[in-house]
Amino acid sequence: MLAEAVESTISVPPFDSSAMDGYALIAGPAAELEVIGEARAGHPAEAAVRAGTAIAISTGAAVPEGATAVVPVERADAAGAAVRVPDTEPGANIRRAGEDIAAGETVLRAGEVLRPAALGVAASVGRAFVDCTRRPRVALLVTGDELTDPGQPLGPGGIYSSNGYALAGQIVQEGAVLAARERVADSAEVTREALASALEGADVVVVSGGVSVGPHDHVKASLAALGVEQRFWGVRLRPGKPTWFGTRGDTLAFGLPGNPVSAMVTFHLFVRPALTALQGADPSTTRTTAVLDQAIARNPRREQAVRVRLTAGDDGWRASPTKGAQGSHVLTSMLGADALALIAPGEGDAPAGEHGRSGQWLTRSKRCRSSSRRVRSTVCTRA
Ligand code: AMP
Ligand code: MG
Repeated sequence: MLAEAVESTISVPPFDSSAMDGYALIAGPAAELEVIGEARAGHPAEAAVRAGTAIAISTGAAVPEGATAVVPVERADAAGAAVRVPDTEPGANIRRAGEDIAAGETVLRAGEVLRPAALGVAASVGRAFVDCTRRPRVALLVTGDELTDPGQPLGPGGIYSSNGYALAGQIVQEGAVLAARERVADSAEVTREALASALEGADVVVVSGGVSVGPHDHVKASLAALGVEQRFWGVRLRPGKPTWFGTRGDTLAFGLPGNPVSAMVTFHLFVRPALTALQGADPSTTRTTAVLDQAIARNPRREQAVRVRLTAGDDGWRASPTKGAQGSHVLTSMLGADALALIAPGEGDAPAGEHGRSGQWLTRSKRCRSSSRRVRSTVCTRA
């Protein structure tokens, strides 16, 4: 992520150049011209074009002094040291200096991700170095006695820890550094120790599971004991209700529900924007409206985040749920999801074939996020 704006000190292209292989000449009526030299890419011609002459030119070569147009080789008829050319307009097949970038122009903004095109643009203006923001260091703790790492045999009551991998992938995808990944047993002492060292070494601590109110859920109490101040716990969202967030100084701590879909969805909606903002970029998600292609039963109190595929229809985006029953444990419902359809709470169904309305998410303690604008929508946020 760029930490500075990149301003170009040069014009790109730096000089008028030929868009074609052909002949540089003075534009005018059809004529027979004497070829007096050659301009190649990286090797400007020594001679200047004068009336009655032309210079053979390659794509990307500097337009020789005096020339006002280029005739492509396919439209010219060369014979020995002479060439016949058709009528030519001034400026034909010439790329002007600065057509891409003018000297002094700001080409990249601070907060921009250095994707391939941005890297290319920085290089095109000759920048060998650019200032980038520091990547946030994220410690990922997955809690649960039942968790087993892939590659190990499953014991009785054991399951493989998918969150350790799906959340790690999301962390890396957002440009953060996975500083630690640890499996933590359901013991108060072990949980506190693991959280203590995670909080020391990371900018953001992400914990999955153990954040609810069961007798073996130790995350909230441990975080409180370690001086992490709760900012919210519980969101009117399905899946994702028991999501917890707190801070200690500049360190952020997220307690995500253990169910694999809940963990991924709440990461996307809460942790992702935080990681983006920490890198100095705009944390807002891409949102659009879509038409549901099947009815979805509303939840009376909670907004739902339904995993959907998006296809382009005549009337805009159409959203189809990725799997019939979208339980928070059905991780395969994340496969092939293009977006999360946010279905507002209420009675009955969000009907097929119609736009719904955007909903609101409220924390138990305070308003967490709301939509003041009423948009006609099933709101979709890119997953
Ligand atoms: P918890 O939030 O700890 O009550 O866990 C809720 C559900 O998510 C339980 O069924 C857990 O077994 C499951 N779960 C917790 N952590 C993971 C994980 N790392 N990978 C897969 N499933 C998990
Ligand atoms: Mg658990």
